[in-house]
Amino acid sequence: MIDLHTHSKASDGDYAPSDLVSLAREHGVSVLALTDHDTLDGIAQAREAARQNHITFVPGIELSTNWGTTCIHVVGLHIDTENDALKNACIGAAQLRRERAEKINARFQSLGIENLLSEVYVLFPDVINVSRAHFARALLHRGVVKNEQEAFDRYLGTRAPAYVPTGWPELRDAVSLIYRAGGIAVLAHPLRYRFDSPLAYDALFQSFVNAGGKALEVSSGSQVPQCSTQCAAWAKKYGLFASTGSDFHRIFSPSPVPAHQPPLPDGVRCVTELLNLPSS
Ligand code: AMP
Ligand code: MN
Ligand code: MN
Ligand code: MN
Repeated sequence: MIDLHTHSKASDGDYAPSDLVSLAREHGVSVLALTDHDTLDGIAQAREAARQNHITFVPGIELSTNWGTTCIHVVGLHIDTENDALKNACIGAAQLRRERAEKINARFQSLGIENLLSEVYVLFPDVINVSRAHFARALLHRGVVKNEQEAFDRYLGTRAPAYVPTGWPELRDAVSLIYRAGGIAVLAHPLRYRFDSPLAYDALFQSFVNAGGKALEVSSGSQVPQCSTQCAAWAKKYGLFASTGSDFHRIFSPSPVPAHQPPLPDGVRCVTELLNLPSS
């Protein structure tokens, strides 16, 4: 089985990279990409664990990007992790995350929720790249919300009061960065952007293709399974290869286990063709 979208503790996942690899192996994964948010920190450990577990490893990343006012996630597969421009982009993103964490903390302060960032650091003492997911867990721990979804709906989601817009790289620059680092750019979980109009999707896919994007995440553990059919139609329309990934972070969220995403629909070309990897 193939899983080209997973997270470790290097970003907002629960497992150390080597433990993620072991878990993936237990669930029958034979080709695995680690795609942490805006960081390459977990790659070396995952690569070594994959070697020991006889899994084909694809070094990856999930870049946060801006397209107009929308934050779009672009997965880079098969990137050169020694590429200087990519390493610098990760340093820049880490700085943005540090600044944003302080601003999110201040928003919560003004909402009467004190010192939430301190709570994040108590709960996640090793955290380097603070994510909204960490704030959601801190809210859950304090009993302010009943689950992470409520934390996003009431506080952290795009239209919620603790949402802080962030100066991520432009979509086209991120796609070009991945290309220059020898990688393949994949537009992640398209149906999570929740555009009202098909025209907005069309404009997004055109921008992505014009920037050099090569694949669309057709099957994702973070979209409901029915979405794969729509995504497959888009992949064909825009001449994009199809990627497949669980978006696994921890048991049950959003995918219960690695490689739990639905199978790719017939009639699409799997991105593994571009990577010269087996397709199942
Ligand atoms: P960030 O990159 O810090 O903006 O945080 C985004 C992360 O929060 C995503 O990668 C998901 O792991 C998580 N996330 C985003 N939206 C939701 C949601 N509605 N429910 C649960 N987790 C979410
Ligand atoms: Mn995440
Ligand atoms: Mn994502
Ligand atoms: Mn992800």
